[in-house]
Amino acid sequence: MSRQPAVATKMSREMDKPLISLHLVDSDTSLAKVPDEAPKVGILGSGDFARSLATRLVSSGFRVVVGSRNPKRTAGLFPSAAQVTFQEEAVRSPEIIFVAVFREHYSSLCGLSDQLAGKILVDVSNPTEQEHLQHRESNAEYLASLFPTCTVVKAFNVISAWTLQAGPRDGNRQVPICSDQPEAKRAVSEMAIAMGFMPVDMGSLASAREMEAMPLRLLPAWKVPTLLALGLFICFYAYNFVRDVLQPYVQESKNKFFKLPVSVVNTTLPCVAYVLLSLVYLPGVLAATLQLRRGTKYHRFPDWLDHWLQHRKQIGLLSFFCAALHALYSFCLPLRRSHRYDLVNLAVKQVLANKSHLWVEEEVWRMEIYLSLGVLALGTLSLLAVTSLPSIANSLNWREFSFVQSSLGFAALVLSTLHTLTYGWTRAFEESRYKFYLPPTFTLTLLVPCVVILAKALFLLPCISRRLARIRRGWERDGAIKFMLPTDNALAEKTSHV
Ligand code: NAP
Repeated sequence: MSRQPAVATKMSREMDKPLISLHLVDSDTSLAKVPDEAPKVGILGSGDFARSLATRLVSSGFRVVVGSRNPKRTAGLFPSAAQVTFQEEAVRSPEIIFVAVFREHYSSLCGLSDQLAGKILVDVSNPTEQEHLQHRESNAEYLASLFPTCTVVKAFNVISAWTLQAGPRDGNRQVPICSDQPEAKRAVSEMAIAMGFMPVDMGSLASAREMEAMPLRLLPAWKVPTLLALGLFICFYAYNFVRDVLQPYVQESKNKFFKLPVSVVNTTLPCVAYVLLSLVYLPGVLAATLQLRRGTKYHRFPDWLDHWLQHRKQIGLLSFFCAALHALYSFCLPLRRSHRYDLVNLAVKQVLANKSHLWVEEEVWRMEIYLSLGVLALGTLSLLAVTSLPSIANSLNWREFSFVQSSLGFAALVLSTLHTLTYGWTRAFEESRYKFYLPPTFTLTLLVPCVVILAKALFLLPCISRRLARIRRGWERDGAIKFMLPTDNALAEKTSHV
């Protein structure tokens, strides 16, 4: 019976790992009929994960037998190539059996102990955060304790049912695997490869707890940088609120509260973006200063500096995010009603004052340069953000990557500083700009970036840069590792060749 169009059959052969759906698998007769000599795999459970796993296994050339407590009810949900039967029957012949049920139901499988003896059980389960804290032993170790005659392998828990169904993609290809039995681990690894995944050996079953914690993590590297960005935003927003809204209200009885949603946010965002960008380069300056002071690179940095250095990418991306939002808000400024009223009022004032031509040359130039520098800074920051994507970063060699992240990043900091300076122009020296005796916000933001730029300029001085370069190549002032050289040797320096 050839209800399968020839084109579809050809396509399935051409595509290495096709994107599959239940419909596709069922409509593809080559997949619906898996050869009898194909390896047989068992699955206990008929839920979301079991269905996706069965679909992918069938499309990868395995024979699948699913064990359910109620096979009649669930059979229709699986590809027709998979056999759905009672649990006892399903575990009879396969050597590898996936346990796709939750931990609390493991004990209900104990009746299968005799049939499961000597087989490989693949534990795919993930605990909830509460369960993870509650149980000291991992789900896989618990399963192993219930079935001492079986070999338990922990695998596939970091892969979602959706990824299994849709097929492995770049970011989701890795499958950590652990077990106390190397042979069993190898068998499951080969199966993962056949399914298009990349197995990562995590060692013995003791690593299962660590593997089970992986899907529970929620952007751990972003926590501190995000809190930092939020903290800066709150501080600058409060400062701008006091200067731009509270001061006119208290001292001039003017109601400027309408500025809160757009104007104050838009003055705050560039401050946060600019300070965050300088905080990407400050730890590098501190690290270099420490190395110069210690005269060696072999002393560990303090923990806080180590963490700071490791979070630079996230801080830089948050800086880009704030800068991009600032650009968007700036585009929206002319759309506001308040802006239109201000423009009309200015025009009326001009007519009343009988002024026909309003043109301040200096202001025109300032604005042109200020905008151009801002666009250039944002463009350079976008390049940095793009090159920090893993797929792009992997295509660059070390020198290219460090050129973009270090040199272009520093260029972005200099451009942002010029952008801020042209925005400020002479305002820092005008008394009327000091509201409640508070200096304009941009003067505060300049502090850290200027320190970073000055320090970087100092490091370029030949006497400092040469010393720093030597330290980074292993030279030590008070050499920890000394080589005994002949006394008449001209090279008196203590060198380390670590
Ligand atoms: P699910 O849809 O709720 O399926 C669980 C299955 O367990 C049920 O369909 C049931 O099948 C079976 N089961 C066996 N004994 C049971 C009992 N005593 N009481 C209730 N059910 C019993 O869950 P799931 O999403 O497929 O998850 C299954 C396992 O895979 C879990 O350990 C989960 O942590 C793990 N996992 C899931 C995903 C995902 O994306 N869903 C990703 C990674 C890991 P029968 O009624 O046919 O027996």
